[in-house]
Formats: sequence, structure tokens, C-alpha cells
Amino acid sequence: MNFVSTRHAAPSATLSQAIAAGLAPDGGLYVPAQRPQPHAWQAQGSLARDAAAVLAPFFDGDALAPQLAALCEQAFDFPAPLRALSTPGDHVLELFHGPTAAFKDFGARFLAASLARLQQGQARELTIVVATSGDTGAAVAAAFHRQPGIRVVVLYPDGRVSPRQAHQLGCFGDNIQALRVAGSFDDCQAMVKQALGDRELQARVPLSSANSISLGRWLPQMSYYAHAALSHQAATGNVLNLVVPTGNLGNAMAAVLARAMGLPLGRIALATNANDVLPRFFHGGDYQPVASVATLANAMDVGAPSNFERLRWLYAADDAALRAAFRVEAVDDAAIREVITRRHAQAGEVFCPHTATAVALLETMRAEGVQGDWAVAATAHPAKFDSVVEPLIGRSLAVPAALAELLQRPAHAEPCAPAYAALRAMLLQGR
Ligand SMILES: *Cc1c(COP(=O)(O)O)cnc(C)c1O
Repeated sequence: MNFVSTRHAAPSATLSQAIAAGLAPDGGLYVPAQRPQPHAWQAQGSLARDAAAVLAPFFDGDALAPQLAALCEQAFDFPAPLRALSTPGDHVLELFHGPTAAFKDFGARFLAASLARLQQGQARELTIVVATSGDTGAAVAAAFHRQPGIRVVVLYPDGRVSPRQAHQLGCFGDNIQALRVAGSFDDCQAMVKQALGDRELQARVPLSSANSISLGRWLPQMSYYAHAALSHQAATGNVLNLVVPTGNLGNAMAAVLARAMGLPLGRIALATNANDVLPRFFHGGDYQPVASVATLANAMDVGAPSNFERLRWLYAADDAALRAAFRVEAVDDAAIREVITRRHAQAGEVFCPHTATAVALLETMRAEGVQGDWAVAATAHPAKFDSVVEPLIGRSLAVPAALAELLQRPAHAEPCAPAYAALRAMLLQGR
């Protein structure tokens, strides 16, 4: 299958080309050239096999197609269990069992495995530059660590990520370089954008990116929804409804695409934090991006959700149909704290602040009488956000083994001025 830009001003690309490029050259997002046709699916018996089945139509005809099964086995070598909660019919889909304890490990590992194969036989090293406000950089660094032919440069705002996040970014070494930038996340992102647009630099240092709009991260995120829905249907005969905590809409758009392909998913509800650009639109207002505000669910502090372009594409820009298809609500910090505290006291259940927004929305819908089997996408392990969660529940949390291993390694990040010239000089070092 070929891929086109949501802005219609770029030539169509093969899957391999679209994965390698990240963003389309007109600034749009790559989407499939044809909208998906729903059909019936059979459970294949494992996450990796369900992943390969659901991704197969998109890989059809591409150079990577013969490698799809191996890519899925390599990238999805950790589980995504669906667990029942104490409230009847409610579940969590645990997406935090990867190396950096957040769902971004799925997309980052699939992208890394794909790019490593596309790099094979290339004489020149590929440099991935990525700006992060915390979770993305760690997932990307872990995924590309020691991949031959690839170097990663991660930029993060010095002093504005949590100590655990900073440690994760600096602890890899080898082909991963962490730059702590004396500026904001916006400064980091502007520097990366400038590098990606610098033709003279790219002639000497081939560059790519790995941000959340990359097709190679978006499509594979369908895998765990497909696996959960098919397994749940096989076990119970019921369709699974979803509540997805949402920032840039990447994870949620993967669920929406999986449903459009005919997987047994029912309703999809979206929870944001206090950054309520999406709820305002879905409640009938205009789509009006604004500057983001800081919340307890910081990986969702997004004022301009970039994957909204993909949502509008899927609904053929019919905003009335789009609004009718989703329940979208904002959950503020007070409600996040209340849910984390109460669910722990009542049932011993512990949620990260992002997951808590979705739990709060599910509780609201249940109180309104909504029926059916529901799963909340649990996007990060609560121990990753210990500074928020532990004071609320009054105890310390065990750190997952993979995360503990990273936190034990020594960490190093190089200082970098918040200016493009400084980044450019770093990228050219030794070339
Ligand atoms: C990135 C992130 C989100 C938001 O995901 P989007 O794809 O940007 O909507 C939610 N929770 C956690 C823990 C994250 O790291």
C-alpha cells in the first residue's frame, strides 16, 4: 500500500519511504492512500502474530513485507495483558511492560527494528535527532541502543524533566548521545526542526527523526488493541470498548484505525488532562490549538494535538460525524489526585496520572449507566511517576525490573546551548 500526506501537497510514498521520512515533505502526516475496509479477523494466538496480521495490508507490496513477522517478533517481545479491575466489566490494558515502562516502547521498538533493516547495506550512518519532554526520548534511546548503522541524539530541556526521566535519557551511552539543553522543550523542538530542514547539513550527516507522528510508530500501536480485542472476544464473545488517555492523539488514533479495520472494538472514549483543546472541539466548539499548561499527567501536556489531522482524514473532514463518534472529556489535576487516592484506598489499584484520567472518565460513564466491557489503556507504570503517585497512596512502589536496571547504570548528558548553531556543531563533530 502507498501513503499520502494529510496536506495533499507531497507525492505518495511507499511504506519504507514513509517510515524513513517521518514527516511528509509538505509538513503533513502520512496516512494510507485508501481508507481501511472493515472485515472479520481471527485471533492468531500471540501479540506478535496479531500484530503481523493487522499490519499486513499496510506492508503489502513493500520491500519490508517479507520481514514483517520477524519485525513484530523482535519489537513486541514483552506482553500487553488485559486485566480485570475490581469494578465489574472494567479492565486495564497494561501497556507498560517494555524497557522504559511506557506504551511508547511499542512504537519506538517497531520503528527502530524497521529503520535498522532499511539501513542494512547503507554505507553511511543514519542519525536520529529527537526532542523530548520526557517519555519519548527514553523509549527511542532504548529502542535504538546498539542498533548498527544508527546514532541517536536526544535533546531535552535541562532541569525540566523528572530526575528519573533525566537518568533514563543519559544512561545508554554507546550510539546514544543525550544533550541537556539550557532552554525549554519548545527550544529543543525548534532546534531539531531546523536540523531536519538543513540540506547542507544533511548532505554531510544523513538525518531522520522518531517523533510521535512517524508512521513507523503510529501503525504498530494498533497491535495491542487488536490483540486485546481478539483475545477478549474469543474468551467472552463480547466486543471491547476503550478509554484512551490522550495527548498528541497518536495512541488513540491507533485504536481508531484498528476499529475502522473491523477489529471487535466498540466505543472509544478519550480522556485528556486540563489541556482541553479536544474536549472543546468534541463538545461543538472550533478546533483551536493553544499553548499547553503543565499538569500531573505531563506526557499529555499538549496544546496542539498533531494527530488530529489523521482523525479528520479518517472521517473525510466531516466534523459532525467525527463529533458523534467519540466521547471526549477533560480531567483536571484535582480529579487525577482523587482517583489515584480513592482507588488505592478502596481496592489497592494503583494508576499513573495519565491512566488515572481514563479511569476517571470511565467512572463518569458508568455513573451515567454506560454498559458493556471496557478497558482503560494504562500508558505508563505508576513507579515512573513516583513523585506524584507515592505521596497520594502513602507508600512506595516497587520499580519494574527493566526500569530498575536502567536507573542503576551511570548517566551522562552533555550541556548544549539553546541555539541551532550549537546542535549543528555537535552533529558535525568527527564527520
Ligand atoms: C505519550 C504519553 C501519552 C499520550 O499519548 P499520545 O499518543 O500523545 O496521545 C499518555 N500517557 C503516557 C504515559 C505517555 O508517555
